[in-house]
Amino acid sequence: MNRGKIIIISAPSGTGKSTIINQIIGKEDLRLRFSVSATNRAPRQGEADGVNYHFLSTEQFQKAIADNAFVEYEEVYPGRYYGTLKSEVNRILDNGYNLILDIDVKGGVNVKAQYPDALAIFIMPPSVEVLRERLISRATDDMETINQRVAKADYEISFAPKYDKQVVNDVLEKATAETEELIRNFIK
Ligand code: 5GP
Repeated sequence: MNRGKIIIISAPSGTGKSTIINQIIGKEDLRLRFSVSATNRAPRQGEADGVNYHFLSTEQFQKAIADNAFVEYEEVYPGRYYGTLKSEVNRILDNGYNLILDIDVKGGVNVKAQYPDALAIFIMPPSVEVLRERLISRATDDMETINQRVAKADYEISFAPKYDKQVVNDVLEKATAETEELIRNFIK
């Protein structure tokens, strides 16, 4: 069986990354599987341990770091750690599945450096202004949170040139089709 390939996808919060990935992951012929990351953040409503994340206590997370269990890990938000487990990556690739890593920009660049053959895709909002408008019209966050996310988006977008491909999510269907095409060409 051929070993699978690695696809890294990063984007600023609110860009539509999850929507795009969720549409593509269902295409069985692409043989895509998510790596389930570990985190010390609390589960959100509807999230299950081992499905969305491996939910660890801070102590368990620190032990996993000490045990060298991670390909990479980052403090994505203050005090909140997220990491890609070596065991997950190897299980998926060894079974001949292609691995989707939905990770933050620092993690993405880190994994690309360790696995130069991986395909790294950055999903961009049309502009930071449009991102701000989308976050405001979504109305799920207060202005302070929106301002924080927008400020972080500028920082995240500064990493885009380090990725192999950049997809602008202006029209969702177009961005999804473009991302799917990139993945198809990469894995064939
Ligand atoms: P959330 O808390 O919304 O599930 O995820 C927050 C951020 O953490 C997202 O940008 C997501 O891509 C990132 N993330 C999730 N898992 C990992 C991981 O294993 N490593 C890194 N570096 N970032 C991750």
